[in-house]
Amino acid sequence: MKTYSSLITKQKSFFKTDKTKNIVFRLEALQKLRNAIKNNEKTLMEALRTDLNKSEFDAYTSEIGFVLEELRFTIKHLRSWATPKKVKTPVTHIGSNSYIYPEPYGVTLIIAPWNYPFQLAVAPLIGAIAAGNTAIIKPSELTPKTSEILGTLIREIFPEEYIAVVQGGVETSQNLLNEQLDYIFFTGSVPVGKIIMEAAAKHLTPVTLELGGKSPCIVHEDANLKLAAKRIAWGKYTNAGQTCIAPDYLYVHKRIKQEFLQQFTETTIELYGQEPLKNPDFTRIVSETHFNRLSSFLNDGKVLMGGKTDKERLTIEPTVLTDITWEDAIMQDEIFGPILPVLEYDNLTEVIEGIHRHPKPLALYIFTENNCIQEDVLTKVSFGGGCVNDTVYHFVSPYLPFGGVGTSGIGAYHGKGNFDTFSHQKSVLKQTTKFDIPFRYPNVKNGLEKIKMFIK
Ligand code: NAD
Repeated sequence: MKTYSSLITKQKSFFKTDKTKNIVFRLEALQKLRNAIKNNEKTLMEALRTDLNKSEFDAYTSEIGFVLEELRFTIKHLRSWATPKKVKTPVTHIGSNSYIYPEPYGVTLIIAPWNYPFQLAVAPLIGAIAAGNTAIIKPSELTPKTSEILGTLIREIFPEEYIAVVQGGVETSQNLLNEQLDYIFFTGSVPVGKIIMEAAAKHLTPVTLELGGKSPCIVHEDANLKLAAKRIAWGKYTNAGQTCIAPDYLYVHKRIKQEFLQQFTETTIELYGQEPLKNPDFTRIVSETHFNRLSSFLNDGKVLMGGKTDKERLTIEPTVLTDITWEDAIMQDEIFGPILPVLEYDNLTEVIEGIHRHPKPLALYIFTENNCIQEDVLTKVSFGGGCVNDTVYHFVSPYLPFGGVGTSGIGAYHGKGNFDTFSHQKSVLKQTTKFDIPFRYPNVKNGLEKIKMFIK
């Protein structure tokens, strides 16, 4: 069994030098990362094309550009985020001042999945660096080219005692988890999330778990159907549906179902062409195993749109399945592919009850013009985050911390949330030595009565 104890010891020693805590050091590291990404833009795009057939447009908007924007935002705000904050002090503590010092955890481990293999490894790295940690990244083994480029890029700008990339699959990940780390940031599936938490529990290591699940998308009878169709088709079929927050399934109101699905079909053709299997820019399915798993769902319900596959190129058409019930195979787990099952409803209560019978989703989308209905769904259903009248877009705002709830995840990141996730909030009371309020001591005359004047 390979151990990573020497790498982790090196990072621990480097962390103890306190260099990573220096704000100028952190800002320079973030700037270096930004420059390296800009200089490697073309190579990264080629790697993403090789691994997943991502178009340049998708590679830039959802991976490279996203990370550059996170870097810009973090560099701009880092000094203010990292400054200890003075907070209020109660009257019982007269003479003292209270502060919160954000402090780095130390050696962090970032484990990333394959669906956005660059972004999901680098975005948490930005948080780790910003907060003053060292980091080890374990990228996905299923996107070997992107993982390799990431490894080279990092090696060229950072020494391994500060930031290291360790390549490998499950075994590598497990060997890393056997070590005593200071923080684990994991993005991936729910079953593996449980394994990560179990490993972290052995050392009481804090974790962020960015997981998945079935994210519902509701189209109510009063929705703007044209826009709903376009925004849902984009959110579902971008990256061939291999997006953790893609709408997993649709709940469409009976009254507008036919009209909506007609709009949806037309929009999907506009976005991806009459023959999406021949579209050179349509993302492919990551592996044959996933291709076979997804293809088997095409037997569920009735194919309303799409349904064709190309095994050689591992592509599946944007597909809509109707006549679906919760008993169908496609409704048992997260789909993670370009197949959209449709359930219909009469009454929103059915929808809310249907969602409540299943684990808390990572995302939820509701399309309606009615504010009361929006608020009703937002207050009654627990989910990680989501949109009203849009899909996926909440993910790209640095002001909205991104994460799950229940089985869809623990913790959140992006923007200041990223810095906060990788920082321990250290509470500090600075007491005066000019005087000493006596009430707390047990030998004060009438002490209890005096204390009771403050504590009512
Ligand atoms: P995965 O859980 O199979 O793998 C993720 C990472 O964990 C990989 O680096 C892999 O090598 C490692 N790993 C796999 N099995 C392991 C084990 N037994 N022990 C230790 N490490 C192990 O996930 P995936 O297939 O790469 O990604 C798809 C999943 O990720 C989907 O469920 C999706 O919803 C989820 N996801 C979530 C987010 C989010 O931000 N919440 C983003 C993207 C993907």
